Amino acid sequence: MDKREKRIVFLCHCILNQNTVVEPLARAKGGYNQIIYEIIKRDIGIHQMICPEFEFLGPSRKPMNYDEYDALEGFRQKCQKEALKVYENIKKYLENDYKIIGIIGINESPTCSISGQRGVYMEELFKILEDRDIKLPSIEVSTKYMEDEQNDLKILIDFLNGQEP
Ligand code: SF4
Repeated sequence: MDKREKRIVFLCHCILNQNTVVEPLARAKGGYNQIIYEIIKRDIGIHQMICPEFEFLGPSRKPMNYDEYDALEGFRQKCQKEALKVYENIKKYLENDYKIIGIIGINESPTCSISGQRGVYMEELFKILEDRDIKLPSIEVSTKYMEDEQNDLKILIDFLNGQEP
């Protein structure tokens, strides 16, 4: 018998894999275990999006801000292409009666921030979704999150339990 619960959350790549983060900003040895644990203990599947910065520039890139990434030739096009693939996957889930809990971004990332100055990748993704009238809840990992420390996960827990932040 098929056990799946058909519930999915879309995660920015580095929540599961800090090895893609620009140096020296990794906040965990591997992934954000406290966040991942809250997701998997609820039997929610994780759909990991790609890391555009890593794919475009690799692990030894220099830290850059939104304007610099926005001006980087080909970067927005790359994000747009990848965002389209994310949308296509979202569509497949929705058409097959999966529940998408939402999208988790990274606050203040020039690429994956959702609130404030949206990152380039999330700008492209949310534009594609809005153009198609798809509304999904979203939250971000706070800039304060640090593995091995006490983190306030209330917003995450509410989000995973289906309460809008
Ligand atoms: S915030 Fe986005 S671009 Fe930056 S390391 Fe994480 S996944 Fe990659």
